[in-house]
Amino acid sequence: MSFTGAQPSAVHPGFERAAIVDTAAIRHNVRTIADYVRPAKVMVAVKADGYGHGALTTAQAALEGGADWLGTAHVTEALSLRRAGIEAPILAWLHTRGTNFAEAIEDHIDLGISGWELDEVAAAASRLQTPARVHLKIDTGLGRNGATAAAWPELTQRAYRYQEEGLISVDGIFTHLAVADEPDRRETDEQLEAYRQALAVAEENGIVPDLRHVANTPAALSRPDAHFDMVRVGVGVYGESPFADRSAADLGLKPAMELRTTVANVKRVPAGQGISYGLTHRVDAPTALALIPLGYADGIPRIAVHAPVSINGHVYRSAGRVAMDQFVVDLGSEDAPVSVGDQVVLFGGESGISAADWGEAAHTINYEIITRIGARVPRIVTDSGDATEAE
Ligand SMILES: *Cc1c(COP(=O)(O)O)cnc(C)c1O
Repeated sequence: MSFTGAQPSAVHPGFERAAIVDTAAIRHNVRTIADYVRPAKVMVAVKADGYGHGALTTAQAALEGGADWLGTAHVTEALSLRRAGIEAPILAWLHTRGTNFAEAIEDHIDLGISGWELDEVAAAASRLQTPARVHLKIDTGLGRNGATAAAWPELTQRAYRYQEEGLISVDGIFTHLAVADEPDRRETDEQLEAYRQALAVAEENGIVPDLRHVANTPAALSRPDAHFDMVRVGVGVYGESPFADRSAADLGLKPAMELRTTVANVKRVPAGQGISYGLTHRVDAPTALALIPLGYADGIPRIAVHAPVSINGHVYRSAGRVAMDQFVVDLGSEDAPVSVGDQVVLFGGESGISAADWGEAAHTINYEIITRIGARVPRIVTDSGDATEAE
């Protein structure tokens, strides 16, 4: 109903392994989130190559779906988008001494500022005779980037002076939440309270930005009091749930990535056959094994055991260790109806398997599964269309 179920092997004759990215799903997810948070704006996080989906593909689809802003960790990621022709506002928030702030200013990249960056950014703006647009970041409890509450008054005063000198304009104040994926935890309330106090301190020091932003995907979907002027969403845009107890479908989101390949080999083996390095698994009865040509070099976690794999629409389980290039599925019977070349889906599409299921098998989360799909896996961009939007 939602997916038109494109058969990539037919569409792409050379296809061996592919992460199929559906831009219609990305547009749908952005619209769904934008409708939910309105009138707040939507910044879509396209860092880490769009969580593995392709930064440019994601950026374009997100903007078509109604995103107002794009977000990246690094200035280099933002610059690549500019060079590819993206004109939307972009914020980059994780910098090092090697970060080229001048290039960022010239290419109209907004800069997240946690502390030490401010003087360097102001100096670059002064050299270029172009004001830098910055978003000041307060650490309200996550303990990563962002100014501490103790450093905040001085940072906002300094920012005010630079703003008066015409070297910067403070367009935003933001923070990042630590436990929004567990909506019942009180620490989110404490972070929101600390954020409001930081806004008040900034205002006392003359800084009143247009864009106050706090919420990641889980907060956008569970904490309307965290929406402020804009939300910064990533995982939901890719159609993944940030919550342990709610699926993407529960949230009205469509997974944007389907990881496919075909069966590389099938063979019958006797009871006692060991499987893969370390022989951590032996079959206890005669069976057939299917070889799946994706391994940890492709982002399939080596630690994943008993992970679900759809072959010809039927879900089997992996057996033994994932190797660099491949892993094995126990088909459970010598006569399983599986042959070389049959269609394999690890997650997404109509498989009924989610990246979160793989996360569970590998003691990690869906974010890591989708983001780490390796460069050796071609991304095939499809567009299943917006037909279902009318329903
Ligand atoms: C990655 C990131 C986000 C998006 O988080 P999701 O949980 O994927 O929605 C938001 N804000 C910051 C600062 C981030 O680094």
